Amino acid sequence: MFSKKEEFRTAFTVEQCESCNKESKRKFKDGDYVFKEISSQCDSCKGKLRISKIFGEVIPK
Ligand SMILES: [Zn+2]
Repeated sequence: MFSKKEEFRTAFTVEQCESCNKESKRKFKDGDYVFKEISSQCDSCKGKLRISKIFGEVIPK
């Protein structure tokens, strides 16, 4: 059952490089959605980054 108390959920965004498939996780920002192209480049190969998934995580207090 869904519980409203004591849980703090944070959303994360996973960016994936289209060239080398390297993934990096960061905090979700407004406007993020799956398959969105990111304006920044891959750290390793300067390839194009795209959001591969967005998920929520429960952070223990
Ligand atoms: Zn890359």
